Amino acid sequence: MTLFSKILIANRGEIAVRIAEACAALGIGSVAVYSDADRTALHARVCDEAYHIGPSPAAESYLRMDKLLDVARKSGCEAVHPGYGFLAENGGFAQAVIDAGMAWIGPSPQAIALMGSKIESKRLAVANGVPIVPGYFGDDQALDRLKDEADSIGYPVLIKASAGGGGKGMRVVDTASDFEGALNGAKRESLAAFGDDSVMLEKYLARPRHIEVQVIGDRHGKVLHLGERECSIQRRHQKVAEESPSPAISEETREGLTGAALKLARAAGYENAGTVEFIYQDGEYYFLEMNTRLQVEHPVTEEALGLDIVQMQIMIAAGERLELEQEEVRYVGHALEVRLYAEDPEKGFLPSIGRLSRLRLPRGLRNVRVDAGVERGDAVSPFYDPMIAKIITSGGTRGESIRAMQEALGYTDVAGVRTNLEFLRWLVAHPDFAKGDFSTRFIEESYEPSAQATIPCEAILAGAFTLMESDRSQSTGSVWHARPWRQAREDMPISLRVDGRRYDVRLSVLAGQGGQWRARVSEGMVELYEDTVIVSGLQARSDGGETEGTRTLHFQLAGSDGQQNISRSLDPASNMWSVEVGGRRYWIEQAPALSTETLTTALHLKDEDNLESPMPGKVLKVMVAAGDEVKDGQPLVIVEAMKMEFTVKAPHDGKVEKVRYTVGDQVAVGDVLVELEKREG
Ligand code: ADP
Ligand code: ADP
Ligand code: MG
Repeated sequence: MTLFSKILIANRGEIAVRIAEACAALGIGSVAVYSDADRTALHARVCDEAYHIGPSPAAESYLRMDKLLDVARKSGCEAVHPGYGFLAENGGFAQAVIDAGMAWIGPSPQAIALMGSKIESKRLAVANGVPIVPGYFGDDQALDRLKDEADSIGYPVLIKASAGGGGKGMRVVDTASDFEGALNGAKRESLAAFGDDSVMLEKYLARPRHIEVQVIGDRHGKVLHLGERECSIQRRHQKVAEESPSPAISEETREGLTGAALKLARAAGYENAGTVEFIYQDGEYYFLEMNTRLQVEHPVTEEALGLDIVQMQIMIAAGERLELEQEEVRYVGHALEVRLYAEDPEKGFLPSIGRLSRLRLPRGLRNVRVDAGVERGDAVSPFYDPMIAKIITSGGTRGESIRAMQEALGYTDVAGVRTNLEFLRWLVAHPDFAKGDFSTRFIEESYEPSAQATIPCEAILAGAFTLMESDRSQSTGSVWHARPWRQAREDMPISLRVDGRRYDVRLSVLAGQGGQWRARVSEGMVELYEDTVIVSGLQARSDGGETEGTRTLHFQLAGSDGQQNISRSLDPASNMWSVEVGGRRYWIEQAPALSTETLTTALHLKDEDNLESPMPGKVLKVMVAAGDEVKDGQPLVIVEAMKMEFTVKAPHDGKVEKVRYTVGDQVAVGDVLVELEKREG
C-alpha cells in the first residue's frame, strides 16, 4: 500500500488534531497551519511541522487558499485534508489542490459543486425519486414572487440561504406580515457569510427529527453507507448531541433512508466521505441537503461501527479500494456524542469568550472518547467556533452509552468561560431523552435555563469574601486569621467569576452593627437580589483534619435561619479557589474590575440594559444615526459573532443621541452601542 508521505491539514482545533492522529496511525507526516491567535494551539503542537499563515481572522489565514497551497508545496505535502468548516466545501480550493499536483482528501470538485448546492442537490433528489420537503427552489428572487410562494406553501415557512450552511441565513416565519423582515435578515446574513443572497423557501415542519446517513465511496465506483446518525438535539438549528444508531426508526425506515442516500451518492458519482441529511416526521423522511465533507459528529459512526472514517478517507484519496462490503457494516453497539461549547445557555446559547483557567475532560474513563483541540490555559477566542470538546461515549445499548455520558459529564469541569455543561448534564438525565422521545425542538420546548444554571447567592458572596481575604493576606503578608476583614475599607468593590460567570460585588461594613456587612451583587448591568444582602457573623477558620488549603467559612444571611457553613478550598494545580454550597462546587476567579466608564454607563442604563452588545463580535450594520427618532423595538445595530448575528433594538421610543460604533468595529460584551434619550410620556 503506497499512501502519502505527508499531508497538509488545512484546519485548526479538534478536527486538525483528529486528522493528525489518523496520519500518525498510518505512518504519514502531518503539517499544520496556524494563525496569530493559534500560535501555541494544540493542533500546531501535535503535527510534525507547523507553519504560520497570518492574522487571527479566518479570512486572513485559514481561508487563504494561496497561503495554504504555498505551505503545502514548500513542505512537500502530497495531499490536503480540509477537515470541516473553512474551505472543506469549497470546490475551487479542491480544484486548486488538484491542479497543484496534490490529492484532495474529499469528493471531486464536480461532486462538491453539484451536491454542495442545496438547490442542485434537491433537483437530483427529485429526479431520483427521493422525497424532499415541499417548497420553492426557483431562480426568481423578486419579493412578490417569494411572498406568493410562501403563501402557497402555507405558514410557518422556513427561509434558507441557497448557499447556506451552519444555520446561517435561516429564518422561521410564522405569518405573512413577518415575511419581508425575515427575508431581509436572511439575505444579509447570507451575503455576509457566502457572498450570495439568494434564498429558497421550505415548509417548516413542526416537530421533525434530524436523521442523516454517512456514505463513503472509493475511486473505483464502490459506494457504501455507514448507517445513520440521529442529530435532533439542536439549538439555533445547530447540533449539540448526536448518536448512532437512531432510537426512532424501524428497520424498514432504516433501509429506506440508507437506500435513498446511496441512490443519491451514486447518481452524483460521489467518492470519499459525505453525509446525506434528512428530516423525519410521522414515519416520512425528506432529503434536506448533502454535506460534502467529514462531519463534526463522525465519531459516533466510528464508535458504533468500529471503523476509522478519517483513515478510510486518506486511503481512498490515495487510490486504495474499499475492502469493506456493505453486509459487513454492522452496529457493534451504540454511541453518543455531546458538544461541549463555550456558550451561555441562559443567554440564548450565545458564545462566551475567555481563557480556560480550568479544564478537566473525561479522558481515560471506560467507554469514553474525547476529541478536543484545547487544553487548560488555552483561550476561546472570538475568531473561531466556540466548541471546547466533543465527548463521545459508547455501550452495548443506548442506555449504557447514556449512563457512561452521565458519568463522563459529572467528571468534566471547566472554568473561565460559561459553558453548556449544565445543559448537557440536564439533557442526558432527562427521561424523554432516555426514552428517545424528542424532536429538533426539544431544547426549545423543554429546557428552562434559569432553573438549571442559577448560581446561589451564598456561592457568590463566599467567593467575594474569599478573594478579598486572599488579596489582603497577599498585600500585608499576613496569614489567615479568625477575623480577617475587620479593618477592611468601606465599600469594597470586588469583581469575580463564579463558574465563569462574572459578578460585581460591593461590600460595606454596617457602622455600629458589629460584624455586619451589606452586600450588593450585580451581574452585567443588572443588580441581583432586590434587597441588599446583609451578611453577619462572618468568620473563617481552618477545621482540623482537612487537607491543606481547605477552610470553612461561617456566615449568616439576613433572613436565613442559622449559621451557614461553606467550605472552600484552594486547588494547588490551578491556584484557584472553589466553594462548596449545597453539595455543589463553584470555581472562583478574580475578574478585572469594571472601568469607571462602564460603571457610569451601568448606572445610566439601569433598566434599559439592552443597548449593549450581548456578545463580543463585530458591528455588521448600523441602522440609525444621531438625531433620529426611533420607536420602541426598532432595530438599531446588528452585531455579528461567529455563527450568528444579534439585533440590538430600541427599548423605548426616543431620540438617538449618539451612535458609538461604525460598521466593522470590534465590540466587547456590555459595550454600549447606542445612546438613546428617554422621552417623557
Ligand atoms: P451541519 O453542517 O449539517 O450543521 P455540522 O454540525 O457537522 O453539520 O457542522 C456545521 C458547520 O459548522 C460546519 O460546516 C462547520 O463549518 C461549522 N463548524 C462546526 N463546528 C466547528 C468548529 N469547531 N470549527 C469550525 N467550524 C465548525
Ligand atoms: P444547514 O446548512 O445549516 O445545516 P439544513 O438545511 O441542514 O441547514 O438544516 C439545519 C436544521 O434546520 C435541520 O437539522 C433541522 O433541525 C432544521 N430544518 C431544516 N429544514 C427544516 C424544515 N423544512 N422544517 C423544520 N426544520 C428544518
Ligand atoms: Mg445541514
